[in-house]
Amino acid sequence: MKHNIIVSGGAQGIGKTISLRLIEKGFAISVFEIDQEAIDEFKLEAADKAIAFYKVDVSDEMKVQNAIQKSFSDFGNIYGLINNAAISINKPITELSYGEWKRVIDTNLSGAFLCAKYATPFQQPAGGRIIDIASTRALQSEPNTEAYSASKGGILALTHALAASLGPEIKVNSISPGWIDVSAAKKKANARQEKLTQEDHLQHPAGRVGKAEDIANMVLFLLAKENDFITGQNFVVDGGMTTKMIYV
Ligand code: NAD
Repeated sequence: MKHNIIVSGGAQGIGKTISLRLIEKGFAISVFEIDQEAIDEFKLEAADKAIAFYKVDVSDEMKVQNAIQKSFSDFGNIYGLINNAAISINKPITELSYGEWKRVIDTNLSGAFLCAKYATPFQQPAGGRIIDIASTRALQSEPNTEAYSASKGGILALTHALAASLGPEIKVNSISPGWIDVSAAKKKANARQEKLTQEDHLQHPAGRVGKAEDIANMVLFLLAKENDFITGQNFVVDGGMTTKMIYV
């Protein structure tokens, strides 16, 4: 039986790349995704693969609960959960409505809580992994990003709290991506390869902007059976940007 991994927001961007890499490595994938058009496109592309699609808004408790039950019935196990679905609404705080703030927190943070709450009973007996996709914005900010940054800061804390609660069976870690170019990895209607300049690339100590594969590689590292002494941690994958001193 293939190990089943739930990837939220798995039909576009980083989540889609993670899904494809994990299938290549022999996992079965359950994509929890809100965007029907993205689901339909990915479904066609992956018709012959070990992947199932569930139309889920991760901030909707009942939908999450039902989809997790269905994913377990479809694959016979839930080994991993990758909390990747997220949105951002960046505006000056005086213009950001309370409803918008709540939408971002509900999707990015409460969604990860709900998926973990309902997936862990299925993971517990055999053990498994949870990987939360945070952001370097949990650690540093540009103006007008309060809701997104707060949601990602919450993800780091949720990660170490879950690691303490769910060990030793379940290891829980987060990955904080920096700038990852996913402009071409969207559904067809939105996919436009962004023109990246030399300046974009060379400002990174690693010499380039990130790719979704960089995050998929870290996911694979954290899923590896032998890496079972790592839990409650956050891994920054940003080409070195957060380590740069930038005082003018
Ligand atoms: P993306 O927008 O390309 O993909 C996010 C996916 O989540 C989309 O398919 C979207 O439809 C889905 N989604 C949104 N709301 C949902 C909901 N309520 N329920 C289910 N699915 C939902 O984004 P991305 O750039 O691939 O980002 C993936 C993750 O990486 C996010 O957590 C993001 O915060 C994080 N991240 C990305 C970058 C970057 O530069 N791309 C940087 C730091 C962190």
